[in-house]
Amino acid sequence: MNDSLNICLSCGLCCDGTLIGHVQLNREEIPALRKIMDIEDESGNGFFLHPCSKYCDGCTIYSQRPKQCASFNCGLLTSYEQKELGFDSAIEIIDRTRQKKIAIGKKIVALNITLKSQSFYFKMVELKKVLQKIKSESSFTQKHIELTADLKELDGLLTNSFGISSY
Ligand code: SF4
Ligand code: SF4
Repeated sequence: MNDSLNICLSCGLCCDGTLIGHVQLNREEIPALRKIMDIEDESGNGFFLHPCSKYCDGCTIYSQRPKQCASFNCGLLTSYEQKELGFDSAIEIIDRTRQKKIAIGKKIVALNITLKSQSFYFKMVELKKVLQKIKSESSFTQKHIELTADLKELDGLLTNSFGISSY
């Protein structure tokens, strides 16, 4: 097993809904994939939402994974492969991202904020709107400020370390 694969096996943030909300499928790959997983279909354009049902400490359909998955390399992995980032530093960034995600989840519960989206990615898009609304209603508390700061930090990690546009 090469180290790039090792990093991805320790990560999974592009499969569990943290970095990406959905996977778009090519028309021609839909029939084969439909046999092994549930696919949403909008007039012939298939996709599935994250967290991916085939993620379990790694991709369980690796040899049959969609083209979008096979061609995806995040900025973190690219930096590692180009030797701009060491293995330990890459793992540290992945852990920091996970911890930030957990911290945000706890604050959402503590503030009793209900989010309808399925994937963490779309939840964060929704959360930004909810926080803006609360702010406009002048009911922003210290806890909301702290949650906003966490969200901003996570956005920074996504953009600067993983090369993904912010939520
Ligand atoms: S987010 Fe990057 S490092 Fe993590 S699993 Fe995906 S490609 Fe690999
Ligand atoms: S099919 Fe595999 S690689 Fe693609 S999102 Fe699901 S678990 Fe990840």
